Amino acid sequence: MTTLRSKFFKLNRLILFLALTATVLTFANSFYSNYEVQKEQLIKQSIEVNRAYASKLADTTEVFIASSKQQLVYAASSLFDKMDDEEYLQAEANRLKFQTDSFNSVVISDATGLTQAASPETLDLVGRQLKSAGSLEAIEEKKLLVSHPYLSTLKNLIVFLSAPVFDFSGNYLGFLGGSIYLKSPNILSEILGEHHYKNGSYIYVIDQDKQILYHPEKNRIGSFLAENDGVDEILKQKEGGMSLTNSRGVKMLAGYSTIPSTGWVVVTQSPMESTLTPLIGIMEKVILRTLPMALAVFLFIWLFARAISRPLQELAEKAGALDSPTVNEEIEGIDSWYVESLGLKKAMLSGVKLVQNQIGELKRDAETDPLTGANNRRAFQLKLKQLTLLEMPFSVLALDIDYFKRINDNYGHSVGDDVLKQQTKILNRFCRDGDMVARTGGEEFVLLLKETTADDAFLIAERLRIAISEEAFDVVGNITVSIGVAAWFVESGLTVAETLSLADHALYEAKGQGRNRSIIADKDI
Ligand code: GH3
Ligand code: MG
Ligand code: MG
Repeated sequence: MTTLRSKFFKLNRLILFLALTATVLTFANSFYSNYEVQKEQLIKQSIEVNRAYASKLADTTEVFIASSKQQLVYAASSLFDKMDDEEYLQAEANRLKFQTDSFNSVVISDATGLTQAASPETLDLVGRQLKSAGSLEAIEEKKLLVSHPYLSTLKNLIVFLSAPVFDFSGNYLGFLGGSIYLKSPNILSEILGEHHYKNGSYIYVIDQDKQILYHPEKNRIGSFLAENDGVDEILKQKEGGMSLTNSRGVKMLAGYSTIPSTGWVVVTQSPMESTLTPLIGIMEKVILRTLPMALAVFLFIWLFARAISRPLQELAEKAGALDSPTVNEEIEGIDSWYVESLGLKKAMLSGVKLVQNQIGELKRDAETDPLTGANNRRAFQLKLKQLTLLEMPFSVLALDIDYFKRINDNYGHSVGDDVLKQQTKILNRFCRDGDMVARTGGEEFVLLLKETTADDAFLIAERLRIAISEEAFDVVGNITVSIGVAAWFVESGLTVAETLSLADHALYEAKGQGRNRSIIADKDI
């Protein structure tokens, strides 16, 4: 049993292992899928928020650009007869510069690019020939323009908005232009700069050439974004969102939207990491909510599997104790509640029955004389031991067939055997409950009479002797027996052996006195 235990897993342990593994795997799986779904959801949400925000900022910027253009167009139309009026032009430039925050500077130029007025006046541009890209483009195109960013005459990185001035006949007189200084505080940085989140999110604006027009890091304004799949994708679509890795190698979630009139793209992005921060809290909640169910599942599997294994375990226990006298009832008592365990139980019960029958047979064989079926000397002596221990009085009749040798000699051994068998039947008739017939030698028998005095035993002996003598034995006819009687009771102080010896002596005495008689032992011998 010990080797069984050490070499093999116990069913209980296996079941615990099964329940634990099943629960943990299920729990882990649900946790993992939950995590993935939540993560995906957060990323989607963040991209969507960024997209919506970029779209909103693009709209706002678009509105600003449209209104700036409108201001320029209106002011330019009022200049058709004023291009020679220096004072008026200067006043108009100042009005445009200072009435709103739209422009960092305003210039009015004639058709050749010669500055007529400029504001703020500290720029000191009046009378100078404008050669910057914006001015040349304005003179060339003679229409409402928003330039690409470029370095101005005064080495500012600017975007230049300009409206042409025509006289009544439609002759080109020059242009009215407003500059936005990208690297100085400007209307764009005011619109975009106030929207600054705390969690590492930021906004930037690029034009279609990937030149940065606005960025929270000022030194990057005017530079070009490196070749980058993410940016190319952004420039292809008007609006959208994606995850990408920024120039510092940080994973970002970006939303973007194009400003229609300029083709500039507003990109708002937030770090993946900060987006996923709430995930910890969410997963804690998921664990807290799943845990009770996981525990319940664990308990259910465990208890149910235990219930399944219990009859098996109990049957296995009983299988190790088949020699117990009560094993039958113990197995009967096992609750085999499903078909297979019931089958095992039935098989074990019939096995136990078989074993016990065999044990009983062996026991009977060990205590029985095979020829007559009477008890043998062993059984007889055991019985006497029991009675003396229980201090129950008894008598013994020692019986021997007279001249048995002759029967053997005259009719053969097997006829002698038949006599022994037939005589045993008579003896059995004299046997009450608790009495015992035993064959103690060749043709010597004893009859044990419980709770019988010597005198009563003598009467029974005589009745027995007469009954035998009157019996017609097959082949041989009549036979006689001699009987010695001895009694045992506590006060007699005799041992079992002494009592038997007394009965033998009385038998010997009966033989000596001529046989076919009963004699009570003389205790004094
Ligand atoms: P007595 O009256 O003095 O008892 O004379 P007896 O011939 O019976 O003498 P004894 O009791 O000494 O003889 C016993 C005989 O019983 C001897 C033996 O051959 C015979 N015998 C012993 N066991 C068996 C047996 O199992 N079967 C048969 N047929 N005979 C047996
Ligand atoms: Mg004899
Ligand atoms: Mg004899």
